[in-house]
Amino acid sequence: MTQLDHPVTDYAGLDSQGHHDLVSAYSAHNYEPLPVVISRGEGAWVWDVEGKKYLDCLSAYSALSFGHNHPRIISALIEQAGRLTLTSRAFQNDQFGPFCKEITEFCRMQMVLPMNTGAEAVETAIKTARKWGYEVKGVPENKAQIICCRGNFHGRTTTIVGFSDDPQTRSGFGPFTPGFVLIDYGSTDALRAAITEHTVGFLFEPIQGEGGVVVPPDGYLKQVRDICTEHNVLLIADEVQTGLSRTGRRFAVDHESVQPDLLVLGKALGGGVLPVSAVVGSNETLGVFQPGDHGSTFGGNPLACAVARESLRVLCDEKLSEQADSKGRAFREALQQRNCTRIRNVRGKGLLIGIELTAEAGPAKPFCKTLLTRGVLCKDTVASVMRIAPPLNVAQQDLDWALDQVAEVLA
Ligand code: PMP
Repeated sequence: MTQLDHPVTDYAGLDSQGHHDLVSAYSAHNYEPLPVVISRGEGAWVWDVEGKKYLDCLSAYSALSFGHNHPRIISALIEQAGRLTLTSRAFQNDQFGPFCKEITEFCRMQMVLPMNTGAEAVETAIKTARKWGYEVKGVPENKAQIICCRGNFHGRTTTIVGFSDDPQTRSGFGPFTPGFVLIDYGSTDALRAAITEHTVGFLFEPIQGEGGVVVPPDGYLKQVRDICTEHNVLLIADEVQTGLSRTGRRFAVDHESVQPDLLVLGKALGGGVLPVSAVVGSNETLGVFQPGDHGSTFGGNPLACAVARESLRVLCDEKLSEQADSKGRAFREALQQRNCTRIRNVRGKGLLIGIELTAEAGPAKPFCKTLLTRGVLCKDTVASVMRIAPPLNVAQQDLDWALDQVAEVLA
């Protein structure tokens, strides 16, 4: 049994160190958080338990695109919480139908299957592609193959980590689900070469977020669309991180006007308050599911639906794609002009920004720690890349201030 040196009963007065001690004593050590304990948030800003203020430039890995405590999203949450929170899909609820119509129209699709976390939505897309492969494409039973990319991040389930190429993500969790092949990200030749008559889907991120904010070559999205169409393979875009305005378009695939067969959404869909995810697709793809084939107790719950509906409305009303596009472009250009010696390159689209450090600079994590002391919250993705992904409605002067901090720390 774990024990604290100083047993605490009054958590209200607990300082940062006290919280760290609690977490390290009682939580599994599956994260190594930066040393800050946040107790309040508003917009792009958060406050720690000692009252110090920070600009949130991670936004919970893009889940907080609307900022903390967005008044409209919180009102939708509270209003719905006071009426009805959960029915399960055993019964209908009066938020689910409107949510389905609004999100499918928003995505220019025909059908949606709601889940909760990003990983569950990815799993759902995998199941959809396999079932579609057997029932529509005519792939022999148990032969379906899905092509994925090196450097991917699609979540943490046993099936998903099985097709990761990151040793730490996989190691110790086998045996893994068969039926996946890995190719180089950004290579259309590799995709062509990997497709067989058993290929049912190509699962990819239009920008690899956790892989280090890796932007594929121009034209890649259009070309993978064409290749998949030509070979009757489903194009499955995991936009859990890149979707819903993060990259300066409604979806990252919109940068090349591409329509995937399955769109996987999560994170910001929950308005930063609840886990809400979904797979959105056509009648032909999602139509393969019959009652009892798949489900989730919480998927499509009325609280999640009300929050997601309001989040989509806020996204449109506040023109978040336009905001992300112009602020992200300006940030990247301004940072490049500072000629910081520790920066190798600045990349990304919209407000999903990756700052790759030079080999001499070493890993990004110590610089994230320094930025923390200056009041900027950010996080490394792969070791050499710092990610800057603030709420999309961050005030320009706050973002300018963050830019100064980053530039000074990396000068
Ligand atoms: N897909 C992508 C592209 C992601 O970035 C993530 C989370 N970082 C996931 C899926 C998994 O989402 P969740 O953590 O909600 O399961």
